[in-house]
Amino acid sequence: MEQSDFDLQHQNRSVESRIVAALEKISQAFRVLLWQESREFSLTPTQVQVLIFLLHHSEEKRKVSYLADEFNMTKATISDTVKALTQKGLIAKAYEPEDTRSYIIYLTEKGREIASETSFFTREIHAPIDQLHADDKENLLLSLLNIIRHLNKAGIITIQRMCMTCAHYQVSDRGQKHFCTLLNQKLEVTDIRIDCPEYEMKA
Ligand code: SF4
Repeated sequence: MEQSDFDLQHQNRSVESRIVAALEKISQAFRVLLWQESREFSLTPTQVQVLIFLLHHSEEKRKVSYLADEFNMTKATISDTVKALTQKGLIAKAYEPEDTRSYIIYLTEKGREIASETSFFTREIHAPIDQLHADDKENLLLSLLNIIRHLNKAGIITIQRMCMTCAHYQVSDRGQKHFCTLLNQKLEVTDIRIDCPEYEMKA
């Protein structure tokens, strides 16, 4: 890439740069929506993201070190978030019997309520996607998965649990056919997961 995606003369001649600029606008929308939701509950955006993550992920992922990797933050920053959420009565810790320094994080009833409510902050982003033709949804999903995969390989997104990097994923016919050996089923493009509970990292 020789010219900036934000150089308007270049951008207006380049479809690739306009796609990047469009993705940047969408990332702004995520930030704005998350801020609005956070303010309503007197929380920070990170606190809301952690609550939503805790709501939808299993015990082994609900630990400080995992959350630090997930959100690309230091353990100290996540520990501060955990402390603040504990003080607000939204989460609780359950120490592990074999290692009293390590604990699993649980949502309290109030935490669960707020996490459920705030987890709909993407409503306005979801709405236009709903309106797309099925083929366009499929192409969009595939393109986004490829971008995420590249960002993962480049070390920018460290944790992801998508099919394409899973030990159970098989691909054939020059990337046209997808198969999950764990579920023992063919995956259509629209079945490819971006955050799979059964994900297993390739050895
Ligand atoms: S286990 Fe999950 S992530 Fe892995 S291939 Fe199967 S569906 Fe995809």
